[in-house]
Amino acid sequence: MPELLDIGERAIISRLMGRLDPDGIRMLGDDCAILEMGDYYLLLTTDMITRATHMPEGAKPQDIGWYAAAINLSDIAAMGGEPLGMLFALGLPIDTASEWLDALYSGIQECCDQYNAPILGGDTKENSNLTISGVAVGRVPKGHILRRSGAKPGDILAMTGSLGRGLLWERNKSDAEKLLRVEPRVEQGITLARSGAVSSCIDISDGLSTCLHLMSKASQIGFEVEESVLPMVPGLDAEEKELAIHWGGDFELLFTVRPEMADKLFSSMPGITRIGRVTSDISVTIENNGTSQPLEDLGYEHFGEEGKA
Ligand SMILES: [Mg+2]
Repeated sequence: MPELLDIGERAIISRLMGRLDPDGIRMLGDDCAILEMGDYYLLLTTDMITRATHMPEGAKPQDIGWYAAAINLSDIAAMGGEPLGMLFALGLPIDTASEWLDALYSGIQECCDQYNAPILGGDTKENSNLTISGVAVGRVPKGHILRRSGAKPGDILAMTGSLGRGLLWERNKSDAEKLLRVEPRVEQGITLARSGAVSSCIDISDGLSTCLHLMSKASQIGFEVEESVLPMVPGLDAEEKELAIHWGGDFELLFTVRPEMADKLFSSMPGITRIGRVTSDISVTIENNGTSQPLEDLGYEHFGEEGKA
């Protein structure tokens, strides 16, 4: 019988998805589950971090708390949602210092305050591996919802911010704050959703290449990415820039824009970059100096041996 290490995170998710309620969770495969709520969709998402997988040596509890809240809010942002609140379930080793827990909660609170997501409740239990499981709830007007599907050939591919934040931390392990103080693009997600110009959207949690492949599958289209225009954080060398295309931990929004509305969106919204276009071929390619080659899905996958990146 195969073990989880053999089959990987995405295969595990697809086995579990067969058990979900097809009526209650209409947007299966998107960043959040949704429920109908009058003129709105209610957005629901959960993301868990553990000492073993997400808490670098030396990380401050405030930064870990911030991260646990931020990565959940990023999924609300990916669907154009406005946060309504969060819940946290904590699994804590019995020898956890109470000051440590206070500091963790102050980081959670700081992030929730910044993004107007009140803490609504949670649970705590004893657990040998420190575990924080967040749930974020949001809402989006029905006509504004952003999904991974909906991109059409001819649409423009774009993203917020820059790539390489997660990688930069990996290369400078002394500063965990760089990795953990993720800024979920909630405000930008709402602006993109309201613009009416965006045909699909995802957050880049597991690396650009993986997210492009997920959107390609969801929208049944392909992408041509232009390598020379990819926005990168300062301080990366040529090899690191290449790696940053596959590295996780950036949490920017990756989205497609209807061409007739693109100029207006790009001139009115700072901090977004055109990085390519949508094609009718269901493939993902990257172009540099006039040559185009396949961009493989090499992003992070849990349960893999060190992920795949
Ligand atoms: Mg996501």
